[in-house]
Amino acid sequence: MQDERTEYRGVYVNGEFHDGVDSFRVENPATGEPIATVAESGEQGVDDALESANRAQPEWAAMDPADRGRLLYRFAEAIADHAEELGEVVTRENGRPIGQSKGLADSAADYIEYYAGLTTKIEGETVPVPGTQQAFTRKEPLGVSAQIVPWNAPLLLCCRGIGPALAAGNAAVVKPAPEAPLGPLKLGELATEADLPDGVLNVVPGDGVTTGAALTDDPRVDEITFTGSVSTGQTVGKTAIDNVVPTALELGGKSPAIVFEDANLEGAVEGAMKALTLMSGQVCFATTRVFVHEARYDEFRDALREAVESVSIGPGIENPDLGPLVSEAGLGKVRRYVEQALENGATALTGGRTPDRDGYFYEPTVIEGADDDAPISREEVFGPVINLYEFSDEAEAVRRANDTEFGLYATVWTNDLGRAHRVANGIEAGSVMVNQYSGSYPQTPFGGHKKSGLGREKGMQAIDHYTQLKTVNIEY
Ligand code: NAD
Repeated sequence: MQDERTEYRGVYVNGEFHDGVDSFRVENPATGEPIATVAESGEQGVDDALESANRAQPEWAAMDPADRGRLLYRFAEAIADHAEELGEVVTRENGRPIGQSKGLADSAADYIEYYAGLTTKIEGETVPVPGTQQAFTRKEPLGVSAQIVPWNAPLLLCCRGIGPALAAGNAAVVKPAPEAPLGPLKLGELATEADLPDGVLNVVPGDGVTTGAALTDDPRVDEITFTGSVSTGQTVGKTAIDNVVPTALELGGKSPAIVFEDANLEGAVEGAMKALTLMSGQVCFATTRVFVHEARYDEFRDALREAVESVSIGPGIENPDLGPLVSEAGLGKVRRYVEQALENGATALTGGRTPDRDGYFYEPTVIEGADDDAPISREEVFGPVINLYEFSDEAEAVRRANDTEFGLYATVWTNDLGRAHRVANGIEAGSVMVNQYSGSYPQTPFGGHKKSGLGREKGMQAIDHYTQLKTVNIEY
């Protein structure tokens, strides 16, 4: 079904493109038009990729760690040199405003660079034991890592996983989301351009239930990193347990912000605006529930409404504040959550409509008066929608912020240092930001409490995840 109007991309295995068992279309969500035809890897593509990765991995692991680091630095440089092109590729496939996409391409390079610097620092320990023995530990690579990546930040999430995996001497097979495979496929090509040995990084596009499941369930896979929804994460996690391989699950969120009466309101409004506009709210850590102290509620609400009403909306390539949602299905889901909330008595302070234009756009929306247990307050809407709630005291704010099955991320806005510490300690989330939104770097660990995930990505912790410990004890 190759469409002559669109470019064609194959499966990236062993340093080159191959045909797949079938193909699928990638569309531009700003127009609904097809932009590429991509090979569906299927079982054959997965088989080829795993064979290639398993062939390449022992030599990659045996390489002098400094040389492995040098190659990863070259890879990071190649990504940074192509940040503009990569940003455009991703904007065309997932709709993200181009300024954000280029920024994420640069961040993807930063991840590879950070882990390039760690190849020579993966150290074991000497363990005190009695008598004439010498006991020590070694951190050894696991083998081949399967990386399942979603569509919302494909370059960054790909590099967040392959950076530590490759640095530790593993090979990787990446399965990008069918909505956004073009950026990760380009990363495969750039790895080859940077002289990474063939087979160290392979990219197998395709859908989840065929290509994704074939990859995660293959006995030649030694580790699975999954980033995506809770329900798919549960499926992948069960497969990992059946095959007894380590897994990192990076899942969804329903992040709260708590704005106290002494907060810098301007900063808090700016934080909420970032959450609303970054990838149109289709971000795992997006702030979706904003709790504002009753003394400042009206002031915050008016300032937020004014900011939201000045947002520019348009195709990502024109670098608006807000781009489209990724797909017709994604748009339908957002509409249903908002309609249901309004039917049940909540009000839209602003937005709540689909603009009259092509593509999958939704107006930035602020909802007031939704119950804490309404679906819009509890489930991932994944769109430019924020709920406002009023609270009276600190304990109430923390209790309501924690009243969710998720625990990925939270923000706290206050100028009282003691309160900042108390609330950060009391929040059930893997990351808590005080007086800022985002604040994320390759060196800061990231992951979920509760249903938001298992394991930690980023930082030195990721090196531990992608290695297995061996104890050696020598009698002398
Ligand atoms: P999804 O779970 O539908 O898909 C994620 C990936 O899994 C895709 O590549 C998909 O093709 C693949 N997949 C689907 N079924 C599979 C199966 N049976 N076996 C193997 N792979 C399979 O999620 P999505 O809608 O693409 O992404 C949005 C979700 O991702 C949201 O819940 C969001 O919060 C979450 N997310 C989490 C993080 C994080 O770091 N915690 C980051 C970004 C997105």
